[in-house]
Amino acid sequence: MSAALTKKLIRQPVEALESHFGHSGFLDGQDRVIEQITSGRDGLVVMPTGGGKSLCYQLPALCFEGVTLVVSPLIALMKDQVDALVAKEIPATLINSTVAWEEQKDRLNGMRDGRYKLVYVAPERFRAESFLRALEGVEVSLFAVDEAHCLSQWGHDFRPDYLRLGKALRKIGKPQCVALTATATPAVRADILEVLGLENPFEVVSGFSRPNLSLAITAVDKKAQKLARLREVVGVHKTGIIYCATRKKVEEVSETLASWGMRVIAYHGGMSDSEREEAQNVFLRREADVAVATNAFGMGIDRADVRFVIHYEVPGSIEAYYQEAGRAGRDGEAAVCELLFNYADTRTQEFFIEGANPGAQAIRDVYRFLLDAADGDHELHRSIEDITDGSGLKNSMAVSSALASLARSGYIERFDVPGKRMRGTRLRKPDVFPESLDLNEEALEEKERRDREKLKAMVEMCYARSCRQQWILEYFGEEDAETCGTCDVCRDDGGDDREPTDEEHLIVRKALSGVARMSRKTSSGWEGKFGRGKIVMMLMGSRSQEVVAAGLDQLSTYGLLKDQGSGYLNALFRAMGDAGLVRTEAGEYPLLTLSDRGERVMQGGRNYRMSWPERGVGAVASADLEDRGFDPALYSALRDVRTKVAKAEGVPPYVVFNNRTLEALARYQPRSLDEALSVPGIGEVKAQRYLRGFLAVLKDWKAAN
Ligand code: ADP
Ligand code: ZN
Repeated sequence: MSAALTKKLIRQPVEALESHFGHSGFLDGQDRVIEQITSGRDGLVVMPTGGGKSLCYQLPALCFEGVTLVVSPLIALMKDQVDALVAKEIPATLINSTVAWEEQKDRLNGMRDGRYKLVYVAPERFRAESFLRALEGVEVSLFAVDEAHCLSQWGHDFRPDYLRLGKALRKIGKPQCVALTATATPAVRADILEVLGLENPFEVVSGFSRPNLSLAITAVDKKAQKLARLREVVGVHKTGIIYCATRKKVEEVSETLASWGMRVIAYHGGMSDSEREEAQNVFLRREADVAVATNAFGMGIDRADVRFVIHYEVPGSIEAYYQEAGRAGRDGEAAVCELLFNYADTRTQEFFIEGANPGAQAIRDVYRFLLDAADGDHELHRSIEDITDGSGLKNSMAVSSALASLARSGYIERFDVPGKRMRGTRLRKPDVFPESLDLNEEALEEKERRDREKLKAMVEMCYARSCRQQWILEYFGEEDAETCGTCDVCRDDGGDDREPTDEEHLIVRKALSGVARMSRKTSSGWEGKFGRGKIVMMLMGSRSQEVVAAGLDQLSTYGLLKDQGSGYLNALFRAMGDAGLVRTEAGEYPLLTLSDRGERVMQGGRNYRMSWPERGVGAVASADLEDRGFDPALYSALRDVRTKVAKAEGVPPYVVFNNRTLEALARYQPRSLDEALSVPGIGEVKAQRYLRGFLAVLKDWKAAN
């Protein structure tokens, strides 16, 4: 057992809460964190801004003997924090580069003499060996790292000094350490644990749920449908924000709203600073009800009565989605957030990812052009478009990213050119050749990979039929998140979603293990290797040639669910897909694999609900499917659906379904997606993508006949 666990408390947290902070109770999650910290464990705390993170280390600081060091990146905030503590008669001080070295030494001595309970330290102090040596004689009871996401290169606010903290911790004898942040995806959390070398850490993620928001994701397959939905939501909820992916879309949508007589502003990065400020003020002064904007909008938006947030296109990550959706209902009153989802819109996000990740070669190409085009003072005044043409690249966004990357690594400097909207560029190391640029290619690739993962997670959520709020909280790492009862999925459950029985849970876990055996786990998550059909055959213990040839009969899960029947298993897999436990990767062949959530359930997690297929029904239903003869009227109705779908998807009709498949649909008249899968010519991916409208027509037709 580590020495930390024998740590003595000189005060009880609850008493100090009242006597020193004047609070009568804890906020959500604080009690759990403080209990863990006072028990001596290392840990990681993720809470949103305003969630009350400071208390999580300030209170234990008072209860421990010795001094608590707090690393915090912003000098201005540091001073406020210290002033607030001193005002509460808590002995605290700060050490950063604005403090003279003599004074720093005095404060270090004070730490040794027990004059302070809390000392805030700027991260760059850990660069100085002299500072580290001086710290060695101090008894540090707790080392708190605030804004801990700053140590991740994949976060949005990387600070290289934070990378030194792991080493600094070891140097001063590995005191108990707790990291805190408001934003940490699983990858960033893993980085924090690794860089700081936290041992057996607790992790508490808390406070992200927004009970007053009802989230919804609506599938729309064409523009008219989007606009119709937009009109409905805006008509009912009046005040809100519509996020669009591109400037062009912002203009288009805001003009449409204006033509409906709505008071609307447009906001995007292509507008000048003053235009944007004016637009924002009009919205804040309530002279407009609706803001149509790109994600550039909202950083400082302090309008609490936003009743709706619409995402007109799918955003690039769940983080971005939730941050933007979270601008609704700041006043605590009910608000709605609706994402209008069309898979085709993910192409825009992929384009952004390419733009944000130019790659080493493109960075060198841009740099080469800068070298060639610079004047005798190593300067050039060229627009992004010029640089794009000059360096032979196509995507001007990639050029901006390349310039930003060169500026970050100190090769160039960008400056404003008076009277012009374009910025100038100055070479700071003009002797460096493009080939000798020091670029961390591995890190560049890693970042692109992570960006793609985030988009994938966003799309996965859109396809899942699972409580939105719970899904998001799980994504952020909150354990045991409850279903919200107010999102679209919770509301239109129709009551047939429920938790598993013990037996069902076991079957699901077995099925998921089968999927895992037939997938590949990579550093970026699960990848499918087989389609659903093969997986079901394996679980059924099929002796078929293709199963045996692939060696699937050698798997430990082979035949594991043969008692269930393939009909049931197929239906079960569909339900697991809807619940987001498995996902289908569209490609030449649809491959099935585990989602993150599915992995958790496979390992025993029971926090899921689904619409359970009835035992035996699946099998009977597909056997039931019979040729009911050819009816030209039905065929023509189905063909109309095909025309519409093809138009919405921007593909020729035969790509949706060819005539033979259409005829088979008319003859077999399936009633559900599962049944349709036994119709010749209909596979998993097409069924998921296109079938809904066809089934609706078949249903109506059956009702009418
Ligand atoms: P964070 O660092 O997570 O953004 P803070 O630590 O600044 O949040 O706390 C946000 C606000 O909540 C502060 O005004 C703080 O005084 C208040 N607060 C923190 N803990 C409590 C509590 N237990 N009871 C009441 N108010 C609290
Ligand atoms: Zn819900």
